[in-house]
Amino acid sequence: MSIISAPRGTRDILPSESWKWEYIINTASQTMKDFGFSEIHLPIFEHTELFSRGVGETTDIVEKEMYTFEDRGGRSITLRPEATAGVMRAAIENNLCAQGSFAKLWNWGPMFRHERPQKGRYRQFYQIDAECLGISNAMADVEVIELSVEIFRRLGLKNLEVVINSVGCEKCRPIYREKLLQHFNAHKDELCETCLTRLERNPLRILDCKKESCGHVADEAPDIFDSLCEECKSHFDEVKKGLERLGFTYTLNKRLVRGLDYYTKTAYEILSGDLGAQNAVAGGGRYDNLASAIGGNKIPGVGFACGVDRIMLVMEEQGCTFGNEPETFAYVAALDNDSRGAVQILTHELRKNNIASECDISGKSFKAQMKNAGKYKFACIIGAEEIAKNSVSIKNLTDSSQVSVPFDEAVKYLHEQAARF
Ligand code: ATP
Ligand code: MG
Repeated sequence: MSIISAPRGTRDILPSESWKWEYIINTASQTMKDFGFSEIHLPIFEHTELFSRGVGETTDIVEKEMYTFEDRGGRSITLRPEATAGVMRAAIENNLCAQGSFAKLWNWGPMFRHERPQKGRYRQFYQIDAECLGISNAMADVEVIELSVEIFRRLGLKNLEVVINSVGCEKCRPIYREKLLQHFNAHKDELCETCLTRLERNPLRILDCKKESCGHVADEAPDIFDSLCEECKSHFDEVKKGLERLGFTYTLNKRLVRGLDYYTKTAYEILSGDLGAQNAVAGGGRYDNLASAIGGNKIPGVGFACGVDRIMLVMEEQGCTFGNEPETFAYVAALDNDSRGAVQILTHELRKNNIASECDISGKSFKAQMKNAGKYKFACIIGAEEIAKNSVSIKNLTDSSQVSVPFDEAVKYLHEQAARF
């Protein structure tokens, strides 16, 4: 029989990597707490409609990247390709922004997109996501950008660039869309296949095209800043002022429109100089029309999502540290077979007292056990002599000194030793 492998575009996060992964999540989690964001756990699958209406029918995600299937009850279900729509659905359904109140929410977990797998691009990938719902003030945009930058600062990422733009609102974007249509129609012969279809369905997306010839045409396109309404203009000014107040540098990129329809006003990305083609570690922005697109009352929102897989790649690339590799403190070794019972009892006691410890459960010889003990701080050794005296020999594996401690005082002794580390 052939061996079953993981599906294309998925991967296993093995123990050699998972402790680093945990460090990234813990750092993000602490930062979220420090900024007053609460964690929300969401379903991994939702009704397909949430994404087709929320993210938008003409986006790459909805057009070609979703994992959609019919469940046994005949409902169309989609594995979430992103988190924002789900957070907004949960906020509406649970009334989290009732009567003008607001909610600052974060979550992390797997997202699913049927893309061509390559370095930094997977079909099951992981995002850390933060959303601030119920506030239309530009201060919220600034806080969200500040939050994402702070997570990366704590993780020690270098060489990052914050890129911002405004994509306007339902009042001014149609005017801009018309100007774009005129421009792109005049340069139709220079556009790629995909952009020709975008021309009819969503011309803003052409600005985002990575192909060189489309890029040239897009560079020459009318400037969105000239089309923004007064409200969008002053909102964008406030965002920029806020960022400057905090001492952040940013780049303006009028071609940054992001691949999701729900964005209004602020759009931003954080790029890494060390990621090659998949250079975005985080993306986000404001989405004041998402709530109404999925059938709720108007709830403004702003948020970001960052890719854990990509953060990991950049951190490895830049030689960042991941805190300390987890270690087990004590190894409990049996000198002979008759002592294995006492070893198991002592290990059990140590564990109950929060002393990370292990003993041999595979039947190895004493010599082989001690070889294994090398990576621990202490070895507790029990043989016939120790059992007769009701004691434990405790060896400090750093300096090889050894003491004899009454069996019942081993926990106390190791606690005292642990306090010295
Ligand atoms: P990209 O331009 O790389 O396709 P995107 O605009 O589709 O990114 P978003 O929807 O903004 O990505 O998601 C936010 C972040 O999630 C990205 O900045 C990236 O770090 C990460 N991400 C998105 N798609 C993938 C993927 N297929 N594999 C790994 N990480 C991803
Ligand atoms: Mg994408």
